[in-house]
Amino acid sequence: MQFWPAERLPELHELVNLARQSSGPVECQLEKGGRVFSCLASWLPGRRHYLLKFNDITEVRELNLRKKEFVANLAHELKTPLTSISGFLETLEEENLSPEGRGYLEIIKRNTVRLVRLVEDLARLSELEEKGLELEKAPLDLVGVVQAVVEAYRKEASNKGLSLRLEAEPLPLVEADAFQMEQLVINLVDNAIRYTEQGGVVVSLKPAEGGVWLSVTDSGIGISEEHLPRLFERFYVVDKSRSRRTGGTGLGLSIVKHIVLAHGGKIEVRSSPGFGSTFSVWLPAAGAHSQPA
Ligand code: ADP
Repeated sequence: MQFWPAERLPELHELVNLARQSSGPVECQLEKGGRVFSCLASWLPGRRHYLLKFNDITEVRELNLRKKEFVANLAHELKTPLTSISGFLETLEEENLSPEGRGYLEIIKRNTVRLVRLVEDLARLSELEEKGLELEKAPLDLVGVVQAVVEAYRKEASNKGLSLRLEAEPLPLVEADAFQMEQLVINLVDNAIRYTEQGGVVVSLKPAEGGVWLSVTDSGIGISEEHLPRLFERFYVVDKSRSRRTGGTGLGLSIVKHIVLAHGGKIEVRSSPGFGSTFSVWLPAAGAHSQPA
């Protein structure tokens, strides 16, 4: 792309103005002549110049789009045969099998459950990426959603000898998609219980900074610092064998992050190996739009 024709683009003017007011470089995407460019603008106050860097990302973007389409189609296509396999496994359970046969059946069942979970998580992630900010949001009382999830997990926690407590203060409503919020809380509580062997899990809800803080604290194995920056990437797992044993897919936190961002919120994690972890999500109150610092 030639610089002069590009300079006439209103988006570029806006970017240059933004760069002048900002202390660091600012970035935007421009479309011109059927190609997409990532554009980085820096204001050099000493020389009173702008530095503009264009990068043609047409192919990369196209490839990303194809990849997302492929994953969405794959997840969809795998659902039908998996439903059939799960159904016939249940039928087989009622058969008079030899102890050896029953052992094999257990292995098939365990792996089928894992596969179903993986396909469901992939489908969820694809749907979130596709819908993005067009979720069905409405003013929502988070206490009710969290209460229901905590009750649903009570048995699982007590089976492991763990306590599970909800501490809720009076809250403003949040502008949120109820189904996605439930998914978010499920993923955090499910992880907290799966990665904790002693003690328990506390879910807390507090009003703060024009919104609501939802925190899930556990007294589990914790996560060492070097893993924290990559925790929300898809398929990132700290300990592959433990994650596989506990039925993890490496997609749970990636789904959580997508939901938080689609609601204009933010997520933080604090953890100490051997002592436990706290995942905190801030969501704006209905009618508020700015994030806390
Ligand atoms: P998985 O399905 O493997 O649990 P997630 O995306 O939910 O995947 O989490 C990514 C990784 O983060 C997990 O593999 C686990 O190592 C770590 N993790 C998530 N939640 C916790 C937690 N509450 N305590 C300790 N580790 C956690």
